[in-house]
Amino acid sequence: MMTLDKQTPALLRVQDLQKNFQVRKGLLGRKIQTLKAVDRLTFDLKRGETLGLVGESGCGKTTAGKTILRLYEPDGGQIVFDGTDVVGASDKQMLALRRQMQIVFQDPYDSLNPRKSVEQTLGEPMLYHRIVERRHLRERIAYLMTLVGLPTACMNRYPHEFSGGQRQRIVIARALCLEPKFIVCDEAVSSLDVSIQAQIINLLQDLQAQLALTFLFISHDLRVVKHISDRVAIMYLGKIIELGNTSEIYATPLHPYTQALLSAIPVADPFNQPERIILSGDVPTPTRLPKGCRFHTRCWLKEEICLREEPAFGEVANGHYVMCHLVHRSKEVSG
Ligand code: SF4
Repeated sequence: MMTLDKQTPALLRVQDLQKNFQVRKGLLGRKIQTLKAVDRLTFDLKRGETLGLVGESGCGKTTAGKTILRLYEPDGGQIVFDGTDVVGASDKQMLALRRQMQIVFQDPYDSLNPRKSVEQTLGEPMLYHRIVERRHLRERIAYLMTLVGLPTACMNRYPHEFSGGQRQRIVIARALCLEPKFIVCDEAVSSLDVSIQAQIINLLQDLQAQLALTFLFISHDLRVVKHISDRVAIMYLGKIIELGNTSEIYATPLHPYTQALLSAIPVADPFNQPERIILSGDVPTPTRLPKGCRFHTRCWLKEEICLREEPAFGEVANGHYVMCHLVHRSKEVSG
């Protein structure tokens, strides 16, 4: 079981985080099943770091991001942000925490109020949180617009007057206006064209260097995650099944699920195509997870122990954690 090193300076510590949803049925809303969307998630995030959180659609990565920000109330576990207990925080403490922990969603059009100009979108939160005096407000808005690469002459325009990439720049400026330390980027470039994606990723990297930001970068796009992340965590049905340095995981994935995911990344060189691992078998219903390793229904390496015992999420090399019986056994033998 992964336990966080208390000595490591981390901006964010997440330990055994749980988020369940109740599946209800009938007129009386009778609870029939529990869906464990996030199941004992444990990781830390250092200041100035980008952690990529990847996995198939429905694996719980977006729920994890929202639960860390307490947009969903956690059902168990700990979240400590910059020394403050997020789970036990009072409303007043949460107000201060929300300034420091922001989110950028996938669809910039959905996440902007179509009736508010850029000036209102950026100005209102800054006045509410007393970031700036009213007399300096336009100056501050102009600074933020320049920071994200928007022309300041467009301050009075509305979201529909911008392109998709420009709208995402407004959303990023809104996230930055409260001077946060930490931003959850939830599929932040997924809805954009490839050329625009590259611009927004470069912008995020520049802003990180300039403002010492820490990112949790949630995405299903393994190429984007490889480009932007220092470390990467792979999620499968609510759990992180592998976590480590990006270069190490992409060069030597150890968990069979990670191997299958990475084998699907297209390679430009036609003479150096990796062998694609096609997963067969059923994806278990999240409300009825199988006993043992939850990946065993699709794993071509499974053994008898995989069907009855859940593997530990253990460290196999410095900072490289894996949840697989076979990997741990081979490390014991070689170690
Ligand atoms: Fe496959 Fe067993 Fe490892 Fe699970 S524990 S990934 S079933 S080998």
